[in-house]
Amino acid sequence: MPVSIEAGLYREPPYRLLNAQGRSPVLLVCEHASRYIPAELQQLGLDDAAAQEHIAWDIGALALAEALSARLDAPLLAAGYSRLLIDLNRPLAAPDSIPEHSEIYPIPGNCKLDAATRAQRQAAIFEPFHRRLGELIDQRLAAGVPLRLVGVHSFTPSYRGVPRPWSAGVLFDRAAGYAERIIAGLRQGDEAIGANQPYQIDPAEDMTVPVHGDERGLDAVLIEIRNDGLRTPEAVAAWAERLAPWL
Ligand SMILES: [Zn+2]
Repeated sequence: MPVSIEAGLYREPPYRLLNAQGRSPVLLVCEHASRYIPAELQQLGLDDAAAQEHIAWDIGALALAEALSARLDAPLLAAGYSRLLIDLNRPLAAPDSIPEHSEIYPIPGNCKLDAATRAQRQAAIFEPFHRRLGELIDQRLAAGVPLRLVGVHSFTPSYRGVPRPWSAGVLFDRAAGYAERIIAGLRQGDEAIGANQPYQIDPAEDMTVPVHGDERGLDAVLIEIRNDGLRTPEAVAAWAERLAPWL
């Protein structure tokens, strides 16, 4: 196979693992933690506003995941690169694994990529992240400790001009019992909490919950927080406090 024009660009680690020895049964995953794109790729042709927006990462999600990791004493695996390079929560076969468009923005640096470049991103970013996540799960199962998988994400207050009413959502497929416990806990407040809103888990479109969780018989959910609720350290801390007892 020819050498990718992106060969040698992915020098930063593909993930960060925090609190690896954490004793909580919860394993936190933050697939959209980072907006980092190597400088040579010139933001994939996006302007500054687009490259800093939700399309590049989940605003506030890493801060929340770190707060939960500290509060629960839970390990956290967080992405080192922007989802725009390759989306860690999409199967490689999904059409938007390497998106050519995101919401209103075309992504010039992802258009007409050759096979070598796709393979480069897969090998540099996607495979090490999922290998490490698989190992973390294997280690805990081998030690006979209980394990629950929690993806931490954020979503925009509106989508294509339509406001989203939920302040948070819990997404799940097979782990209905676990998810319903979390939803019931969060609904003790007066804000709207979505059950499988604003998105649904779809094995053709999702990675962490179906592949690492459901297929392995583990309780696995994805938590989505509306990102206007994660804009300050105080707001992040409040969400961590609210979520932690139910996870
Ligand atoms: Zn996300």
